[in-house]
Amino acid sequence: MYDAVDYVRMPELPEVEMARRFVEERLIGRRVASLDVKDGKMLANASERSMKNVFIGNTVDDAYRHGKNLLVKIGDHHLHIHLGMSGSLHLVNDRENTSHERFRLGLDEGALVLDDPRRFGRFGIYHRIEDLIMEKELGPDALTVPEKVFVSRLEGRRGSIKPLLLDQSIIAGVGNLYADEALFQERLHPATRADSLSITEMARLGKRIRKVLDASITVRTELSRLPEGFLLRDRREGAPCPRCATALMAIRIGGRTTILCPACQSQRAKQ
Ligand SMILES: [Zn+2]
Repeated sequence: MYDAVDYVRMPELPEVEMARRFVEERLIGRRVASLDVKDGKMLANASERSMKNVFIGNTVDDAYRHGKNLLVKIGDHHLHIHLGMSGSLHLVNDRENTSHERFRLGLDEGALVLDDPRRFGRFGIYHRIEDLIMEKELGPDALTVPEKVFVSRLEGRRGSIKPLLLDQSIIAGVGNLYADEALFQERLHPATRADSLSITEMARLGKRIRKVLDASITVRTELSRLPEGFLLRDRREGAPCPRCATALMAIRIGGRTTILCPACQSQRAKQ
């Protein structure tokens, strides 16, 4: 069995990008021979029958990603896969099954399987990528968004910076871990009001997010292999700050656990 990646935590943009590369490297040019929906509750916008009609007999042509969404181009349509909280893709032999198999795309030889113990993943069909972006109201992709566009998406917004970064309609693909890392590296407190940031600070943050996501993809999302100085190497309450050794702190912002260094990321005075 070939695994795209072993997930030990919720998949974020770098894990989805790994899955995209996996499909690109191993599946392009292969013909879809069968399709089985093992969990109908995870079907997003199509029936099993319509998926069979659209995909069987066609060839895998390409693989795209927008934010945390994977789109596999097969013939004239795209198979949409969202990995949810615990989804992962596997290429298996014809007689092989994974323990939490939810969707199976049989190929001329072997099969692509979506395994998802927690069943928050989704799959469906989109004719064009733009249809997905419009329907889900997704902002530009975090890994490829130009700095100017990043700034324009955040400019003038009220509220704390971290929940805005996690809002997929503003920028698609920033998750909890990478938001914490980028804010840590920019020495910004996660509760900093977005409209108190200068244009330069926002542009730097956008660039930092791209760098952090790239760094994770480079180490194949094995966070312990990230360069020294990264918060994500040991992101937990009480761990020493990699910059100043102060004990890291856990707080909740926008309902999400946030890890920060109280010394490096001090709150700004209210303006
Ligand atoms: Zn520190």
